[in-house]
Amino acid sequence: MLEVQDLKTHLFLKRGVVRAVDGVSFDLAGGETLGLIGESGSGKTMTGLSLLGLPPKPAGRIVAGSIRLGGTELVGMGEEELAADVRGSRIAMISQDPMTSLNPVFTVGSQVAAPIRAHVADGNARGAALDMAVRELDRVRVPSASARARDYPHQFSGGMRQRVVAAMAIACQPEVLIADEPTSALDVTIQVQLMDLIERIQGDTGAGLLFITHDLGVAASLCHRIAVMYAGRIVELAEVEALYRDPRHPYSQGLLASVPRLGQRKRLTSIPGNPPNPLSLPTGCAFHPRCPHATDQCRNEAPPEVTLNDGDGQSRRVACWLEA
Ligand code: SF4
Repeated sequence: MLEVQDLKTHLFLKRGVVRAVDGVSFDLAGGETLGLIGESGSGKTMTGLSLLGLPPKPAGRIVAGSIRLGGTELVGMGEEELAADVRGSRIAMISQDPMTSLNPVFTVGSQVAAPIRAHVADGNARGAALDMAVRELDRVRVPSASARARDYPHQFSGGMRQRVVAAMAIACQPEVLIADEPTSALDVTIQVQLMDLIERIQGDTGAGLLFITHDLGVAASLCHRIAVMYAGRIVELAEVEALYRDPRHPYSQGLLASVPRLGQRKRLTSIPGNPPNPLSLPTGCAFHPRCPHATDQCRNEAPPEVTLNDGDGQSRRVACWLEA
C-alpha cells in the first residue's frame, strides 16, 4: 500500500543543514501496524510529516527519495493536489497534542465535518457532513455524540479530545493512518482505552497504521513490525517478537535494556551519552560515540544496511558493522 524508498528530508537552517530524515526506506501493508521508535529528535515525527508532504516550512524540504501510495508517487506532487487528493483523504494523522489539532473557536462537530466536506463526494452539503461527523464521533465512542458535536474542544477532557482528533483522522477512510505519540498526553487508563480504540478503528477500516512512539511497551502490544530510528536513519527493522527477543543493533539493545520489567532485580542500564547534535552528526556510524562496540571502521565509515534471515520466512534489516 505504502512504499517509502531512500527518503531524505532536510531542514535548511541559518546555522546549517539538519538531515532530519536521512535515507529512510520501509513499506506498509493494509491492516499492518509498523512502529517507529527512537529517542526524541531521531526523525520519527519528521518521517510522518514527510508522508503528508508537510515538513516544517520554510526550512524543511524533501530533497530525495520516493513515497508511493497505492502506485501514486507523492514526492514532487503539487501542494494543491496533495491537499485535494491525499492529505486527510488517503493519509491522515492523529497528532500528539489534541489541543493543537483542534480549533478552540469551532464546535467539534464542524471540525470533524470539515474533512468530510472537503473530500467525501456526498458530504459537501453542511447538514449531510454534520450527520456523517456525528456518526464518526459515535464510532470513536464519544458518548451522546449528537449533542456533544455542538460542544467546543474546551468542554472535552483530554482523552475525549483525542477521540475527536481520531474521528477527524478516520472521517474520510484513509488508506494510511499516522498516529504520532497519540497517548503521550493521557493518563495510563485513558491510554489503554485509546490504544484499544485505534486497534478497533484499524480493524474496521483496514488502514495501514504507522505508529510513532518512544513507549516500547505500547509499541510491543500494538505493532506487527518495528523500525528503530537513530539520527534520521532506520538502524533496525524487524518483526516485533524477533526484535524484542533478540535485538541486533547496539542502539536497539540499549533501548530495550533500559525498559523496566516486572520482577526484575537487576539495575536498569541506560545508553551512555546523549543523542548527537543534528547540525554536526558524528562521522561514520552516528551512534559510535555511545556504542560499546565501536571500532575505527565505525568512526570512519557509515555501516551498510544488511538483511538477516530470522527464520520462518522472516527477515530483518540492520545497519551495523557487526552484522555486515
Ligand atoms: Fe556500534 Fe559500530 Fe554498529 Fe555503529 S556500526 S552500532 S558504532 S558497532
